[in-house]
Amino acid sequence: MSLDIAVHASTSPRPDEERASVLAAPGFGQTFTDHMVTARWTPDGGWHEAQVRPYAPLQLDPATAVLHYAQAIFEGFKAYRHADGSVWTFRPEANGERFARSARRLALPELPVEDFVAAADALIRTDEAWVPEGGEKSLYLRPFMFAQEAFLGVRPAKDVLFCVIASPAGAYFARGVRPVSIWLSEDYTRAAPGGTGAAKCAGNYAASLVAQQEAIEQGCDQVAFLDAVERRWVEELGGMNLYFVLDDDSIVTPELTGTILEGITRASIIQLAGELGHKVEERRVGIDEWREGAASGRIREVFACGTAAVVTPVGRLAWRGGEVTTGDGETVGPVTSAVRQALLDVQHGRRPDEHGWLHRVC
Ligand SMILES: *Cc1c(COP(=O)(O)O)cnc(C)c1O
Repeated sequence: MSLDIAVHASTSPRPDEERASVLAAPGFGQTFTDHMVTARWTPDGGWHEAQVRPYAPLQLDPATAVLHYAQAIFEGFKAYRHADGSVWTFRPEANGERFARSARRLALPELPVEDFVAAADALIRTDEAWVPEGGEKSLYLRPFMFAQEAFLGVRPAKDVLFCVIASPAGAYFARGVRPVSIWLSEDYTRAAPGGTGAAKCAGNYAASLVAQQEAIEQGCDQVAFLDAVERRWVEELGGMNLYFVLDDDSIVTPELTGTILEGITRASIIQLAGELGHKVEERRVGIDEWREGAASGRIREVFACGTAAVVTPVGRLAWRGGEVTTGDGETVGPVTSAVRQALLDVQHGRRPDEHGWLHRVC
């Protein structure tokens, strides 16, 4: 039986003019809509008290388990307004399935995929006016789940909160798409075999921040991680998967090994790039292959991908004692550009949705 979601509408939604000014320049993750979804899980009650309710701070006991032991997972996907005014999400079931896998790894209760999708739909319908129109704008959905039991014993919590919040998002590259620079992390790793690298859990991000900070200090935008065992194989960035375009027009992405986060953008590009006529290969990519390939021209383009930024060109790779650029390091390569456009066109309803990736919300 699926979860019943009660709707308690806000009596003080933001005025139209205020919402309009936010939607004109939404930025990312700064402003939230008028409502949120919450549902509670206990061993006896299962999932219950599911509701759409006014967006408000959560009150937490200082002993709340998540604040101490980080038993928390999250997801991210977007709702798009098409030219005819209808609103659609992109592969929300895939996010729901990944959320369930993350829950299993973090010993959190699984939320059925249909309830995950229904919760997001209920929030989007209630806050439909917050789905921006046009360009590359969207409404970013952030479902998350955490241990809310007030207890300091170390064991899976017996009181868990599921929550969905939403935030209007603008074009990621406000001043046009520009290649980013990447710092290779040689001291820190993101994920080890048997660890939580394939789960979308809060702690993975906490552990990557110092490496990201190092990247910024080194004058780079983002950090790339290698595998934790041999320190040889390219895995991914802190929150995006990687792709390499070779000089024979084939495309390569590091294969999933259990330590790489299985991006839905990554999976979608495997299919779309094939349709655009590229041979797509999932295999291990050595850091030497990246360095030497970029220098020799064997690697023509590098790009990163994820829900927030869609597809981000990578212009420069730097490490302690060296750096290499792909292409001229300044302009966006033709394959990167075509893949980015094809994906955005499906999401915004400008290209036929041949895979049934779009889910109509309202
Ligand atoms: C979320 C995430 C990605 C990208 O996943 P998408 O489903 O494409 O948004 C890649 N790497 C990490 C570590 C992530 O957390």
